[in-house]
Amino acid sequence: MRDMRIGFFGGSFDPPHLGHIALARLAADRLGLERVLLAPVGRQPLKHGDVAPFADRVAMLRLAVETDPRLEVSLVDAPMPEGQPNYTVDTLRRLRLELPPASRLYCIIGADSFLTLNKWHDASGLFAESDLVVGARPGFALDEAAWALPSGVTVESKVEDRPECRGYRLRHPQGSAMLYFLPDLAEEVSATEIRLELQARADERVDPAVTAYIREHELYGGGAV
Ligand code: ATP
Repeated sequence: MRDMRIGFFGGSFDPPHLGHIALARLAADRLGLERVLLAPVGRQPLKHGDVAPFADRVAMLRLAVETDPRLEVSLVDAPMPEGQPNYTVDTLRRLRLELPPASRLYCIIGADSFLTLNKWHDASGLFAESDLVVGARPGFALDEAAWALPSGVTVESKVEDRPECRGYRLRHPQGSAMLYFLPDLAEEVSATEIRLELQARADERVDPAVTAYIREHELYGGGAV
C-alpha cells in the first residue's frame, strides 16, 4: 500500500471563495491526494487589519467544502494563546504529530503567497515537513526569475514537465523536497475584492451557502436580508 498523501491548505478564508476550492481540488487531482485539510489561520503574521472571527471563517469553510468528499476543514491552525502569530512551519509540525507516520504532506499555496515565501518564519524548515504545491493565480508570474526561495534552498533538478504539472526537486539544509506548480489554474478572484463587493450584493464566486451565512451573520458590513 502506498503512503497516504495529504494536502494542507492554510489561509485566512475571509471569506472562502471558489478560487480556494478550485485550487484544493486541482491539487488533489494532480497530486493524487486522498485528503486536503483546509485550515483557517488564527492570526496571519503577514496580514494586517480586521478579519472575520475564526469561528465564522471555520463555519463558512465547512459550507464551502461540502461538495467534495476529499476536502475537510482542520482546526490545526486555530488562534495561538496570547495573540501570538500562527507560523505555517509550526502548524505543519503539529499536524505531522497527528497523522500516521507514513503519510506524505503537501503544503498548498497560491502563486502570490509563493512569491513571499522568503519572508515566512523559518521558511526553509517548511521543506523538512512537507512538499510544496503552488497554484497559478492571475497576475502573479510563476517563472523562475520571480521565485522567492528561502536562503539555503536550491533547485537540484526538474523532474516533471507536463503542461498540467511541473515538478522540481529542491535541496534544503535538512534534505530534499519536491516543489510542484499547477500552471493552468486561472481563477480571477480574491477575498479582498469579495469583501468589498459583498457590502453591496451577493457574489457568484462564493458558494451560495457561504453568501447566506455572511448575510445572516452580518459579516463584512453587509446587513441581514
Ligand atoms: P485576500 O484577498 O484577503 O488576500 P485571498 O483571496 O488571497 O485573500 P487567502 O485566504 O489569503 O485568500 O488565501 C489562502 C491561500 O489561497 C493563499 O495561498 C492564496 O495564494 C491562495 N489563493 C487565494 N485565492 C486564489 C486564487 N484565486 N487562485 C489561486 N490561489 C489562490
